[in-house]
Amino acid sequence: MPDASPSFQLADADVEFFNRELASFVPDRVFDSHLHLGRRSDYAPMHQKLVANTPEVADMPTYRAHMEWLAPGRRLVGGLVLPTTLAGERMDEGNARAAEEARRDAGSTSAVIVHPDMTADKLRLDIETHKPAALKPYHLMSARRPTGDSHMNEFLPEHTVAVADEYGLPVVMHMVRARALADPSNQQMIRDYCTKYPKMKMVLAHCARGFNPSHTADGIESLVGLENVYFDNSCNCEAGAHIAILRAFGPDRLMWGSDYPFSNMRGKCVAFNDSFTWFYDCDHDLGPYSIDANQKFTLVGLECLRALKFACMACGLSNSQVEDVFYNNAVRLYGRS
Ligand SMILES: [Zn+2]
Repeated sequence: MPDASPSFQLADADVEFFNRELASFVPDRVFDSHLHLGRRSDYAPMHQKLVANTPEVADMPTYRAHMEWLAPGRRLVGGLVLPTTLAGERMDEGNARAAEEARRDAGSTSAVIVHPDMTADKLRLDIETHKPAALKPYHLMSARRPTGDSHMNEFLPEHTVAVADEYGLPVVMHMVRARALADPSNQQMIRDYCTKYPKMKMVLAHCARGFNPSHTADGIESLVGLENVYFDNSCNCEAGAHIAILRAFGPDRLMWGSDYPFSNMRGKCVAFNDSFTWFYDCDHDLGPYSIDANQKFTLVGLECLRALKFACMACGLSNSQVEDVFYNNAVRLYGRS
């Protein structure tokens, strides 16, 4: 078990899952608001076991082929390509690779990494060099240990937010701290940054990291009234946080995202008590606890799509509002102009 990694392949049961659960829900035209392309070896050491079965080099053609597992036959117009270099090493290479992959795909754009130690001028240089559609900070670059306890300004300092504002760029924020949006420090910093820098857009990834829906549901009211807050739902496998967002902000602020390659692993993120955890096929045999001894996991990205479907049903979204979530909202924010 310690050396096991989630499998990365399509099974007949996944195709059946899509046809049964999702074929009538996923629109014809989609834009992926959150995906990672680059070298597998560039992921952080702590993620290496997790990504061991993903492609050694995830490029645009590979990604497009693998998206057929999640959205077969759909017109994937493009996506926002984030680097794999999220630990603060080889940032320049990661930025360049993400930009190059996006450039070879007519509908796609890319993001550049924000390191808390970089100067405003270095960030401006990266923006001028790569012409990104977004900025990507990550907690692994924070000086605090453990990095998962970091306050937002410890990995997204104010001078970098000011640069985002200068260029009118979105920031793709994977919040940390135990209770994510329910944490008063996170609420305060989002409000402060969004109010002081109104041309910057704050995109709270993973439904505001609402892997435990209670955290997003408990904190969402603190953001109401902010015009520059958005959400992607990447890898969020439960409906609750999606529902909280749709109820508080309506269907114009939520965007579907895959978080490829994590989307194509076999598993699910599940809330328990006041936290959450990831279950993967390599660690858990579902049979003994299931009504079906042969029960298997499906792909994370398919679970995520089903959660989104239930949220859209619960909130009564029309077909055109569902199309906004899958396409229009993200193209407005990230698409090529
Ligand atoms: Zn991601």
